[in-house]
Amino acid sequence: MAAITGQQFLDRLRQNPPTLYIDGARVEDPTTHPATRNMAHSLAGLYDLQHQPELREQLTYEENGERHPMSLMVPRTKEDLARIGEAHRIRANYSLGFLGRAPDYMNANVMAAGMGADYFARCEVEGDHKPDFAGNMRRYYEYVRDHDLCLTHALTNPQVNRAKMASEMPDPYIALGIVEEREDGVVMRGARMMATLPIADEILVFPSTVLKENADKSRYAMGFAVPTNAPGLSFQCREPFDVGRDPEDHPLGSRFDEQDAFVIFDDVLVPWERVFLLYDVELANKAYAGTDAVLHMAYQVVNLKVAKTEAFLGTAQSIVNAIGSGQFQHVQSKVAEIIVMLEIMKALEVAAVAGATVNEYGVMTPARGPLDAARNYYPAVYARLPELLQLLGASGIIMMPSKADREGPLGPQISKYLQAGNASAEDRLKLFRLAWDMSMSSFGGRQSLYEKFFFGDPVRMHSALYEVYNKQPYVERIGAFLNRSEKAEGVAADD
Ligand SMILES: Cc1cc2nc3c(=O)[nH]c(=O)nc-3n(C[C@H](O)[C@H](O)[C@H](O)COP(=O)(O)OP(=O)(O)OC[C@H]3O[C@@H](n4cnc5c(N)ncnc54)[C@H](O)[C@@H]3O)c2cc1C
Repeated sequence: MAAITGQQFLDRLRQNPPTLYIDGARVEDPTTHPATRNMAHSLAGLYDLQHQPELREQLTYEENGERHPMSLMVPRTKEDLARIGEAHRIRANYSLGFLGRAPDYMNANVMAAGMGADYFARCEVEGDHKPDFAGNMRRYYEYVRDHDLCLTHALTNPQVNRAKMASEMPDPYIALGIVEEREDGVVMRGARMMATLPIADEILVFPSTVLKENADKSRYAMGFAVPTNAPGLSFQCREPFDVGRDPEDHPLGSRFDEQDAFVIFDDVLVPWERVFLLYDVELANKAYAGTDAVLHMAYQVVNLKVAKTEAFLGTAQSIVNAIGSGQFQHVQSKVAEIIVMLEIMKALEVAAVAGATVNEYGVMTPARGPLDAARNYYPAVYARLPELLQLLGASGIIMMPSKADREGPLGPQISKYLQAGNASAEDRLKLFRLAWDMSMSSFGGRQSLYEKFFFGDPVRMHSALYEVYNKQPYVERIGAFLNRSEKAEGVAADD
């Protein structure tokens, strides 16, 4: 099997539903459950995109006579990278950039980890079991590619007490830990705080990067993958934002509630062939950097955020057009703010490709500097985007009779009094409903939190950037400047 269709995705989900819990009950079939069915069908639509004749070339590539999603292609040249970036943006546009964890994100992860599989060969396990970690990682990439799997992932430990290490908690298995090795695999127990898009085929549990090295901590160092319905695995979902409203009323929440889930591992057996790393704290801490997966994921992200910022620009300008506010200077200035953010993100995407180099595993890898800038910059400025929509739309973003209201007894009055300068009331209300879902609804609020944290804690990301960025040449330049003693040629001291 290669690139799948939406129907194949839905069939697979129906046959092997992830173990999701919502509002105290098991979701038997995520393709029909009211809280998940629209999202499942939106994902199906995303899979169908790759089969549209006019998009097939852009969204898939050929390997061994089969076509696969472009996000799983191994880039060998800068042109390849640019093609992947274009596919990311096309797919991001499908949700206006509001689907943070479309399968593309994890595809970038497994592609890079699969190519960098030799990294995992450095992990050695004492005792009877001599797993082929590198082979496992490589084969897992091929497995994901050949079945076009949808993956979720979970990195962080439960937020119980951040002042203490995982091993110092009231129970050593609050954080996800290794319980025992068995003939048929490794048993895992504990929990992980957050997995977005649990409506997925498998979960990839990659090493979390906050372990301090010592033998006691090694039980928390692991990398593995299991199906989302593996025995003992459960996903406790948060309150749904898809509350059954018409897409006209909740244009984003009714389609793209990707869900976030708390992940519980109740002695989950991971077969040896799906284990990629065990016990090695140092290798665990550096797995994303050591395989360059973080850069390929950040490259997907920068493209996604370009699409999302374009959606904010389009919505903002549509509001301005609708209410005829475009002649006011401060209104122009507010739209210009979005343009500046957009152009910065586009420039960082281009710079990431222009500065790309082939890494030690033969993969053309986007440049770190621009991507680090993008993933630190966007979380810091994102909150301004919904704020700008609120400032431009003002009362229009709250005074939005619903579709049912429009079709009810006050329909004629609504049509008259809530029309736009350039559009009918129906079109104006659809637009403002979109602006509301982008900036004010529970869906929009969750997006604001997501943008702050989805790539990690911004405080610690800044620290990491501070640590890795080579500042020395600039320090030396300043030192040289301060110590410069020569005078300009031909200029006498007392001139
Ligand atoms: C909507 C959403 C979706 C997400 N989706 C995913 C997902 O799909 N997969 C996934 O793995 N993760 C996901 N995350 C989790 C994300 O990776 C974390 O939110 C992020 O890494 C921060 O960790 P935390 O939430 O546990 O915050 P905490 O670490 O608990 O931090 C809470 C506060 O304490 C401060 N703090 C805590 N420890 C330190 C420290 N050592 N040094 C300095 N300050 C500290 C933080 O700065 C912050 O202000 C998601 C998060 C959100 C909000």
